[in-house]
Amino acid sequence: MNSTADGARPAPACRFCAATLKTTFVDLGMSPLCQTHIEPHELNSMERFYPLHAWVCESCFLVQLEEYVSPDQIFSDYAYFSSFSDSWVEHARQYTDLVAKRFSLGESSLVMEIASNDGYLLQHFVAKGIPCLGIEPAANVAKAAVERGIRTTVRFFGQQSARDIAAEFGRPNLLLGNNVLAHVPDINDFVAGMKSLLAPGGVITMEFPHLLRLMDENQFDTIYHEHFSYLSFYSVEKVFAHHGLRLFDVQQIPTHGGSLRIYGCHMDDASHSNGPEVDALRKEEIARGLTEAATYKKFESCVKETKRKLLAFLIDARNAGKSVVGYGAPGKGNTLLNYCGIRTDFLDYTVDRSPHKAGRYTPGTHIPILSPERIRETRPDYVLILPWNLKTEITRQHAYIREWGGRFVVPIPTVAVIEP
Ligand SMILES: [Zn+2]
Repeated sequence: MNSTADGARPAPACRFCAATLKTTFVDLGMSPLCQTHIEPHELNSMERFYPLHAWVCESCFLVQLEEYVSPDQIFSDYAYFSSFSDSWVEHARQYTDLVAKRFSLGESSLVMEIASNDGYLLQHFVAKGIPCLGIEPAANVAKAAVERGIRTTVRFFGQQSARDIAAEFGRPNLLLGNNVLAHVPDINDFVAGMKSLLAPGGVITMEFPHLLRLMDENQFDTIYHEHFSYLSFYSVEKVFAHHGLRLFDVQQIPTHGGSLRIYGCHMDDASHSNGPEVDALRKEEIARGLTEAATYKKFESCVKETKRKLLAFLIDARNAGKSVVGYGAPGKGNTLLNYCGIRTDFLDYTVDRSPHKAGRYTPGTHIPILSPERIRETRPDYVLILPWNLKTEITRQHAYIREWGGRFVVPIPTVAVIEP
């Protein structure tokens, strides 16, 4: 962003409607990119920190971050491999069963997934004999998809790539994107690209964390630089309608702390009539105040309270001589650790199943990331679960910590101890 002549920064503009952003949703201070895990030889080098300041647009109510870092800096060599979460792979399998049946997908259909990652989802369509194409910007994760037999093209998605893909591969009957809409800086170019790529009569499905749940459950740690937008049904419906797409159904699903799965089609496609959930959710969001700026202004004080409670727990535990370690090194952990100032003074180490993270250090806070076996070796009193959305899976897999009286702790919505 350019500076003005007097050195003051101009106010940012809404990435959807271009209105000037004046209202803070929450200011989480300065934070490094959440996937830039530090290698041992980088520990003494400078790291880049960027403001983690979320705004709400008072015109369209899209909650958003400014874009400080271009997507190719973030996503071209991404350390997130979806297949390392068992519950996430199972969620994908259930989804493919549901949509294949509902929309009668078969050998003559074409399914495309935007941000197809390592093929964790499309593998289930391939198993059903339904032709697929993955569209994935990170070459390293796309390579993993190709190795498991999933046709994948490496590129960022937008209007230009939509035209190229249509010419080379055809137009999809089902176009899906899970946890990608929030990651897109140019949301207008992205949704316009989906409109132009979708076959006549085709269906778009997308999943994204629901802003209402973020606010209800204090999930401020899901705010990080890779997530440019925080979406309500109200704001997404506005964006889709602007680009000639109609949302005809919506489901509330439990993933990522509470997400929406939306179903879209061409605006004039009479073959998909609106389900009752669309109107019901629209009314609920309005009743909950999501079209009033005052609702958003209340969020920051809840975030500060959550931070104080977590730090109070950690200080008490350490004063009592207890050992505390982390579990996981997810993006949300990066926001939590940096915002709360939690380093090796509180957490001895954290662990992660992904071999792409183990052996490195958390960005900014430099907590060593070790392999999960270290928990059994060091027998900590508390294990703080950073990917709290996976707490059921993690507490089940590591229930053995009860052998030495160990307990799990979740930081969100408020710090809580869980007996294994
Ligand atoms: Zn706006």
